[in-house]
Amino acid sequence: MAKNYYDILGVSKDATQEELKKAYRKIALKYHPDKNPGNKEAEEKFKEAAEAYAVLSDKEKRARYDQYGEDGLKNSGFSGFGGGGMSMDDIFSQFSDIFGGAFGGSPFSDFFGGGSRQRVRKGSDLRVRISLTLEEIYKGTKKSIKVRHYEECPVCHGSGAEPGHGSSTCSLCHGSGEIRERVGSFLGQMVNIRPCPNCHGEGTVIDKPCRNCHGDGRVKTESKVDIEIPQGVSTGNYMTLKGKGNAAVRGGIPGDLIVEFYEQEHPLFTRHDNDIFISIVITWPQAVLGDEITVPTLSGNVSLKIPPGIRSGKMLRLRKKGMPGLHGSQYGDQLIRVQVETPTNLSKEEEELISRLKDLYRNKKIKIEKYK
Ligand SMILES: [Zn+2]
Ligand SMILES: [Zn+2]
Repeated sequence: MAKNYYDILGVSKDATQEELKKAYRKIALKYHPDKNPGNKEAEEKFKEAAEAYAVLSDKEKRARYDQYGEDGLKNSGFSGFGGGGMSMDDIFSQFSDIFGGAFGGSPFSDFFGGGSRQRVRKGSDLRVRISLTLEEIYKGTKKSIKVRHYEECPVCHGSGAEPGHGSSTCSLCHGSGEIRERVGSFLGQMVNIRPCPNCHGEGTVIDKPCRNCHGDGRVKTESKVDIEIPQGVSTGNYMTLKGKGNAAVRGGIPGDLIVEFYEQEHPLFTRHDNDIFISIVITWPQAVLGDEITVPTLSGNVSLKIPPGIRSGKMLRLRKKGMPGLHGSQYGDQLIRVQVETPTNLSKEEEELISRLKDLYRNKKIKIEKYK
């Protein structure tokens, strides 16, 4: 079970700090969770390498490890490893000099300051918008979308080099990726730094570009992406699918696919948060005598009691018949605004009956109320 930290990083026992860093960076990039979403094995390798680097990059711990092996670390207050291992958060916070910025969105970040500069690129994020009906939002749904994006070139696996050929240090900038020029001005000497035009800031040039991607390391393609949309989303909610965006030029970390949801206007229902509103128009006798009617909801037709004597404009409430909260939590209500229709185009019979009612009402005073 004893781990050999040197083997894990693939370096010799007398590796320098610079070599350790370089080896660790390479492994961390290869097994980075953004590049291997859901891959447990890669995650283990990523953590293992972090542990090895944490020990070997520390002079004192390395000396102890060289002399006593792993046991030498156990009694040294070097806890957190061995038993539960390092968490991802530990790794990112402890080695922020290595991960800082590189995965934070800046497409072009320095891995290490000074010496030979190593950079990692991150592919750009992609945004798509999915429009959903209220019924789909009510139940949650699955959607398959087609996304045009860059993926890692399958021929060179992102290196940009024709298989069998490698890359070498740029002869113009000697690997720094920058050109420094002294510029004389009336203020004195100034140094102007610009990206190397020969290697485009990479520090290395490909000996022979891959025929499939012309040295880009990525190719444009169309992928089908399956998206599981939870219940209760609203316009403006989004999901981030890690690593499903554009592949970076010549390897590196792929960008993310950001899926934004957009709610379609419904012909009947109006949504306010998780409540659903509809309006119904009932007849005047229904309003007077009350009734039991059927109204549509997102979960199908339900029966609604109209209390006798209801006034036009009154809101009735069907509890928990509205939209579920995100992921199906707590349902909202359905609210029904009741309006009373004034009959027009009366039949002979209606006219007679209503005329009789009017006579009955002759002495009824008109009620005057404050305007609300
Ligand atoms: Zn290629
Ligand atoms: Zn160069």
